[in-house]
Amino acid sequence: MKAVAVIPGRANSIHLREVSKPVLNGAAQGVLVKVLRVGIDGTDKEINAAEYGAPPPGDEFLILGHESFGVVESVGPRVSEFAPGDFVVASVRRPGSSVYDEIGLQDMTTDDTYFERGINLRHGYLAEYYSEESGFLVKVPQGLKGVGVLMEPASVAEKAIAQAYEIQRRLRIWRPQRAAVLGTGTLGLLACLMFRLRGLEVIALGLREPPFLNSQLLEEIGVRYVSTKQTSLKQAVAEFGPPDIILEGTGYSPLVFEAMQVLGKNGVLAMVSISGGNRTAEIPSDHINQGFVLGNKVAFGSVNASREDFERAVRDFSQAELSYPGWLAKLLTHPVPGLENYELLMKTLTEAKDAIKVFCEVAAL
Ligand code: BGC
Ligand code: ZN
Repeated sequence: MKAVAVIPGRANSIHLREVSKPVLNGAAQGVLVKVLRVGIDGTDKEINAAEYGAPPPGDEFLILGHESFGVVESVGPRVSEFAPGDFVVASVRRPGSSVYDEIGLQDMTTDDTYFERGINLRHGYLAEYYSEESGFLVKVPQGLKGVGVLMEPASVAEKAIAQAYEIQRRLRIWRPQRAAVLGTGTLGLLACLMFRLRGLEVIALGLREPPFLNSQLLEEIGVRYVSTKQTSLKQAVAEFGPPDIILEGTGYSPLVFEAMQVLGKNGVLAMVSISGGNRTAEIPSDHINQGFVLGNKVAFGSVNASREDFERAVRDFSQAELSYPGWLAKLLTHPVPGLENYELLMKTLTEAKDAIKVFCEVAAL
């Protein structure tokens, strides 16, 4: 079968290759999945730039793709929760050896090495088929098949938000009213949606001056968009009120410390950007420290997602389709048909100015 792969460590090595089609081989818990769509993001860009990622042991290539959506083709004899024809999304990280991995929370691993399909040490989903143990798959209802490829990025936002709420149980009662989301890419947009579904007032901040597609989409769900070209985070918050929760997802790490300064008392700051560079910043440390101490604030980092976060994404998408019908599908701005168009896929990811989600249509839905 065809697959899109890179040679980790070699920049711009993305290519199409012929690999053997996975077989279940009697694996009792195995599921063979026909791939329908695979989304790509900054992580894929970094992998193709040889800045990130490693092949599975024994291979020199890594099949790309961690944002999967597919349909079950066949199942092993002990799989009762899936049947051929079911739509599924696969999680990304696979267990290592820490205690967290042992209880299915490999997204919380304390191991130094992590195994992620399509990213690190495990092949991904940008191929005609993949096989997986049923425990790493989550069913997507038929009515959500058109937006199923957004489930993985959504799971990352779900995890950060669920963790924030979990942390805030320290307050016995926590009634968040205002959320601020920094960064309005796919992850930021999905986080805004999730906060709106939870009834919060939401402000979103991005570089670009409105109006543009993302700012319009935010307006449609009642989120106020602010361009940091016109208004600083401090000014925006002065008008909006101190946020009870902030999600920082811009990739520009100095913003984390600005966010710390504007976070409301008892507030929680979720950091989800992967900032691979080595930027340094001068910060008003006394001021930030004082604010955190006197305001009982919390900041935490969040990566990847657990099975439950994928299930949360499925539930939120269902609610979103009722509350804001058709909104999610508008995020799917740049379909690229066929694995063989991998070059166009990458080019679109790096060059398309108005892209929200770029994805490969591997097969027809
Ligand atoms: C993926 C996550 C992954 C992270 C770090 C992101 O692009 O969506 O699932 O944990 O990269 O590799
Ligand atoms: Zn990703």
